[in-house]
This record gives sequence, structure tokens and C-alpha cells, in this order.
Amino acid sequence: MSLNIGRIIGIPVRIHYTLWLVLLLIAWSLAEGYMPQHYPGLGATTYWAIGIVSAIILFVSVFLHELSHSYIAKKNGLPIKRITLFFFGGVSEMSEEPKDPALEVRMAAAGPLTSFLIAIVLGAFWVLTMLVNGPVPVIATLYYAALLNGVLGAFNLIPAFPLDGGRVLRGSLWNRSKNLLSATANATRVSEVISLLMMAVGLFFVVFGDFVNGLWIIFLGWFIRSGAETSLRQTRLTESLSGVRVGDIMTRDLLSVSPDASVQQLVSDYFLVHPHGGYPVVSNGKLLGVVTMSSVRSIPREKREVERVSQAMVPYERTITVSPATSATDALQLMAKNGVGRLVVMDGDKIAGMVTRGDLMKTMKARQELGA
Ligand SMILES: [Zn+2]
Repeated sequence: MSLNIGRIIGIPVRIHYTLWLVLLLIAWSLAEGYMPQHYPGLGATTYWAIGIVSAIILFVSVFLHELSHSYIAKKNGLPIKRITLFFFGGVSEMSEEPKDPALEVRMAAAGPLTSFLIAIVLGAFWVLTMLVNGPVPVIATLYYAALLNGVLGAFNLIPAFPLDGGRVLRGSLWNRSKNLLSATANATRVSEVISLLMMAVGLFFVVFGDFVNGLWIIFLGWFIRSGAETSLRQTRLTESLSGVRVGDIMTRDLLSVSPDASVQQLVSDYFLVHPHGGYPVVSNGKLLGVVTMSSVRSIPREKREVERVSQAMVPYERTITVSPATSATDALQLMAKNGVGRLVVMDGDKIAGMVTRGDLMKTMKARQELGA
């Protein structure tokens, strides 16, 4: 569905196929429809050149819009996993939610502001080119590109998830109530109303003659609606973990492995007979690291007899630990941020247990099903 195109300021960037489609559509509709109508007598090659250049400008604009979000996030210490560019802008995948509402508002507002700024700069060039009687194709391209950026900024300001305006709204509600969950729920409700309105307006257009624009509006409404539903589901999921501490759900009686055991022993005495996917490596009651199925997989089969667990394990310095008092939601975020499926629970310098993503999921499911 998406194509990787490289990294910028350390963040991988992908292009979603909808953006390719829209770029093609824009180049084609400008070359064959809009430009010949508004600027007649320029010739097919010129129209296509305008179409292609405009599509490229749109791509760069979407990219700059998205980069501005990521830049603010990175500057404030929020890690961004990757950027995916869609036809309407993009989505920066954060591995954490912003910690305070002011940052969320600033981050979300950066995108539309960038688009408006680009629109103003291109618009100024457009006016200038007209004043000096510049070439018509340049005037046409500048006008259209400025217009597109204005539309991009305005569309993203609609106060509905997952658009930037929805995040600005949630940040403001969050700031007022100091409660992220209720702010998300309320912002989601607004998004649902907006999406239903958009679909109704789209249907009206379709029925009363403007078929293409009507379909577009219905599509956008549907898109907002599904985004709002996803975010509500996520909020409910997190809500179902509220109040749960790691100590309540962790596995207590842990089997531990000696650092001197061979990897082969670890496979035959632990992984093949017990249901766990990872074990703490302990010597004299001290945690040395964690060994998981993937640590075993990294050792070639023929070397498993000679390699020791101490060589295969994730060492203590890179082991992620929490305390029994850590909240379950924080544990879930820690796992996502570090790309691991289990955390060692330490009570002071004593190992208290282990908690896995599976434990957290089971708890969420049970609490949701029982309405706890
Ligand atoms: Zn944006």
C-alpha cells in the first residue's frame, strides 16, 4: 500500500498509493480540462507541462506540511516512527501521545500554518509575475499551486479526527478539562457529527447534479468517520486499562536461566517445555539480562551447543524494567516505544516478575467484556 522513499531528519518517509493516484489525477485533469478551459491556445505539451509541474509542487507542499508536524514533535522530544504521505496531507506516526495539551495544539497547528504560508508565498509570486506580464503558463501554475495549498490548509483545519483541526480541538478540550480520555471522546463525537453532515451534503450534491464533487465529499466524510471510530476504539482500550498497575497482572513465579547454560539447553529445557516466550537471566539473585525466542533465533543452529546464554541474551543495560507500581498504560507505551513484547518488573533490586504485551491485551479484553 505504501512505498518507502528514504529518510529526512532521521525519520523514514513513505508514500501511500492514494497520493500517487491523486497526483496523476491532478496532472491529467489540469492538462486536459482546467488549463485549456481557463487559459486557451497554449498547446497540449504546455498544458501537460503545467499539469506535471503542479503535481510535483503539490507533492512538495504535502511533504513540507507533514515535515512541519514532525519537526515540532522532534524538537519537543516526541519520537516519530515514520511519516506516511496521503493525498490530503500526511500522518506522522508517534510512538507516544503528546504529554501536554499545549504541545498537541502547537504540533497540529504547524501543518495548516505551513500550508497557508506556502500559499501566501506562491500567491505573492503569482501577483508579481502578472505585474511584469510574465509567461502565461507560469502565471497559471503559480495560481493553481497557491490555491491548492490554501485548500490543503483549510481542509486540514476541519475540527475532525484524524485531521489537524481535530487534534487542535482535542488539545483545547484537554487543556480545559485536564482529562485526555474525556477530551478524546468529546472530540470524536464532534468528528462523527461533521462526517455525517459531510456525507449528507455529498448525497445532496449527487442527487442534485454535481455528481463528482458530491462523491468527493461523501468519500472525505467516510474517511473522517472511520478515523474517528479508530481513535475512539483506542481511547476505550486505554480507558479499560486505567487504574491497573503492572504488579496486578504480572507473572510472579518466574523461571530463570543461568548465564552459563548453553543456548541448546535453553531451547530444550525451557522454550520447548514451558509456555513462556522469554526468561530472565539470573546469577546469584542478580538480573543479568533477558533471553527471548528471537535471541535464540539469532544464533545459528550449529552453534547452539557451544554458545552460552550470556552471549545470546539482551544484556541488563538494554533490558527495559518497570516497577510493580508502574501503570499498565505506561507499560504498554514503553513496549511500543522500544519495540519489545515484555518488561522485567523490579522491586528495588529484586526481580518481582515479568509482564508481556499478551498479559496487557488479556486484561484489556477481560475488562472490556465484563464492563469493568
Ligand atoms: Zn497535517
